[in-house]
Amino acid sequence: MSMRPLLDRLEGWRDEQIEFLERLVNHDSGTDDALDVNRVAAILAERLERLGFKVQRVPGERFGDHLVGEKPGAGPKRFLFVGHFDTVFPSGTAKQRPFHIDREGRAWGPGVYDMKGGLAAVLYALRAHREARTRAWEETTVAVVFNADEERLSPTSRPLIEAEARKAHSVGILEPARPNGEYVMARKGAGVFHLTVKGKAAHAGLQPELGASAIWDLAQKVAALHALTDLERGTTVNVGTVRGGERPNVVADHAFAEIDLRAWTPEEAERAIAAMRAICERPHVAGTAPTFSGGLAFPPWPPGLPGTERLLEIMRGAGRELGVDVRAIKTGGGSDGNHTSAIAPTLDGLGPKGSRAHSDEEYIEIATLLERTKMIALFLDRWAAEFVIGEGRRGGS
Ligand SMILES: [Zn+2]
Repeated sequence: MSMRPLLDRLEGWRDEQIEFLERLVNHDSGTDDALDVNRVAAILAERLERLGFKVQRVPGERFGDHLVGEKPGAGPKRFLFVGHFDTVFPSGTAKQRPFHIDREGRAWGPGVYDMKGGLAAVLYALRAHREARTRAWEETTVAVVFNADEERLSPTSRPLIEAEARKAHSVGILEPARPNGEYVMARKGAGVFHLTVKGKAAHAGLQPELGASAIWDLAQKVAALHALTDLERGTTVNVGTVRGGERPNVVADHAFAEIDLRAWTPEEAERAIAAMRAICERPHVAGTAPTFSGGLAFPPWPPGLPGTERLLEIMRGAGRELGVDVRAIKTGGGSDGNHTSAIAPTLDGLGPKGSRAHSDEEYIEIATLLERTKMIALFLDRWAAEFVIGEGRRGGS
């Protein structure tokens, strides 16, 4: 089938789509501002409903509402899109630096790259399918989870995402493309750990021998933890914060550290956690007592999964039609793709190309909004025609 009906529509909506992205960006939705987040949820829910989705608003308890939607298809196949609409920016940011496009064709504004651009892309790709009445649209059940707490590591949306991934035959994650336009095919597992050391206070001048310094103990542990980093294997241990003590003339009776761990495989993550635990639980300074806690927040999404390779191959087919060279990379940063890739074939980085996520220099190349939207539309078309149910699946239900 010719792809012209899809592509012509998308080109015709180019300005309208940019205006829609502008509207999303100019509504702040920092994870911790539930009222703001829910306003954006309402905009997205209305769009999904217009596309024929049945949309459920799932209260996020600590955060804003998540959206879970489904558009039924006549055939057996089910595709899931996952995107988050929270950002790291607090209320008022969009007022200070609203959406704008500069002379170089870069669009700026809070969350434009991570990841309101991806949301604007998928909604228009789906709209093109609906209005062109494609076979893919008629036959495929399309599900979405738009979550509101990803920037806090998806604590309340993770069960929803995993449940939807178990029902789906493949998953597309709407996180942005890397700076050179690459898709994402693997992500390190990531965990956060806490180390607390209790020591014993004493006058540092009068009776230092009666004290047990929690800081001295912690310092030895920090050195040993950092030595676990093995860049060749891709395993990193980073002590990102330390606190402790009260004043210089008191032997510190408490110290505390937060530790970030990244690793490519579950086995390697477990090995590293065991090593961290051994270091943290062994007292170095007599009289101190350590406690160590934490775990993996994101399971590793290792490189080379057959399901991901298959989706990438389908995306390459879409790229050939548009003259776009499709490449994919692995990255140390986590996303909800870590969760879904453990269950169903997953491809990530479907959103527009840009850079500088989580900073006020965040931008996208605005021309890639339309390009990536076309890619999603063509990808879905090919996936509906080519993908065989069950291929590349790792586990799950
Ligand atoms: Zn993101």
